Amino acid sequence: MSENYDVIVIGAGPAGYVAAIRAAQLGMKTACIDAFIGKDGKPALGGTCLNVGCIPSKALLDSSRQFHNLVHGFEAHGISAKSPSIDVATMVGRKDKIVKQFTGGITALFKANKVTAIAGFATLKANRVVSVKDADGKQSEYTATNVIIAAGSVPIELPFAKFDGKHIVDNAGALDFNEVPKRLGVIGAGVIGLELGSVWRRLGAEVTILEALPDFLAAADADVAKVAAREFKKQGLDIRLGAKLTKADVGKKGITLGYSDAKGEQSLEVDKLLVAVGRRAATVGLLAEGSGVKLDDRGRVEVDQHNWTGVEGVWAVGDCVRGPMLAHKGSEEGIAVAELIAGKAGHVNLDTVPWVIYTEPEIAWVGQTEAQIKGSGVAYKTGSFPFAAIGRAVAMNETAGHVKIIADAETDRVLGVHMVGPLVSELISEAVVTMEFKGSAEDLARIVHAHPTLSEAVHEAALAVDKRAIHKAN
Ligand code: NAD
Repeated sequence: MSENYDVIVIGAGPAGYVAAIRAAQLGMKTACIDAFIGKDGKPALGGTCLNVGCIPSKALLDSSRQFHNLVHGFEAHGISAKSPSIDVATMVGRKDKIVKQFTGGITALFKANKVTAIAGFATLKANRVVSVKDADGKQSEYTATNVIIAAGSVPIELPFAKFDGKHIVDNAGALDFNEVPKRLGVIGAGVIGLELGSVWRRLGAEVTILEALPDFLAAADADVAKVAAREFKKQGLDIRLGAKLTKADVGKKGITLGYSDAKGEQSLEVDKLLVAVGRRAATVGLLAEGSGVKLDDRGRVEVDQHNWTGVEGVWAVGDCVRGPMLAHKGSEEGIAVAELIAGKAGHVNLDTVPWVIYTEPEIAWVGQTEAQIKGSGVAYKTGSFPFAAIGRAVAMNETAGHVKIIADAETDRVLGVHMVGPLVSELISEAVVTMEFKGSAEDLARIVHAHPTLSEAVHEAALAVDKRAIHKAN
């Protein structure tokens, strides 16, 4: 007889493993199934985020930032070094060690919480029967009162630039180059393209990013995108907009790219090509006939506002459902669903999910952009404050960027906060809390912010909404 669980979670990424831990904390007999095989050939928990996404990319962003500062950034501080060099193998090795530490950490957390980890690829059948095929092809079957699908997402492949793992790579491949490519092509100026493009640019690669859309960072606030474009250009990232890739031919001397833009047909030679044109829900092979779970037109699992699939006891969270493909959004959905299953309240407010891009300067936002608010017809006011007038930022020699707050003209309620500058990945939390508490710009303006800190930019931007910023002309 197949073993029965209160909860089976399919997928051990940040949505799934968090759901499993929370379900176990709430006293439910829980198993979490995942097919991911790590670099050492062994099953690894943590999904894309821990193995080939958020965590390893941050490790390389940090290494490359240290190197870049040593070469270009420390002179202003009076610090110089003779012929600095980078050992890519050591850098990548450090990244792998960090990944192992964190994926191993989940194994330990599962043990501590009595979550059973099952390695293999899961398929959901009718009546919450889950069949699992392990790496050796062995099949087993489990049943559950509740199933939480947290299958994540996979990179979208372009038909004329298929991943070969050597020349044309996805995010995972671009984390594992064994030397700095001389010429790196990137398709897509989105989050991955900008972050990994920055890593290799800082280490000396000539990086050209081809973006199909005519606008740069169309999802961000236009003022933020403008500053980011200016700073990335200064760093030598060659971002070409309105560029539609038509071919990527791998030859002996590199890859010949063909693309069309406003000026016509263009070509470009690169040594490596990173394709980062978005991700799609990893739902192929996930659902057997009779599971009853529906997919939408983009292949995502259909769910309601409570992440319920409409099939009794079957839920879905994270990248494989609607909403932004962000680890923290998935984790919160995982917790909410575990709590709903346990008969508690659980809810995720998708309107206050923060976005962060870990470039330099960093980019972060929450809520609506000015263009979206304008489009909605709501009367609004804005307040901006530049990091160039913030003592801490000047002391750090990181003055590019600003904080911009958009508030309802009538009620003063904060509708969106948009940041570009040093450590805004950390500063954005204050904006999220304010918006979750339905706070106003005046609330932020009346809160004491420590001096000298970067957070004073948030304070001053809030004051600027009412045209009473202290350290700039209003
Ligand atoms: P993305 O959606 O952020 O960006 C993809 C970009 O590729 C877009 O600008 C799009 O216009 C462009 N594009 C699409 N097709 C193209 C084509 N044929 N030619 C040229 N350009 C094309 O996707 P991504 O960067 O691949 O990241 C995937 C997902 O992972 C995203 O949802 C992202 O949120 C998530 N992610 C988040 C973080 C973070 O939170 N810091 C980091 C990495 C990835």
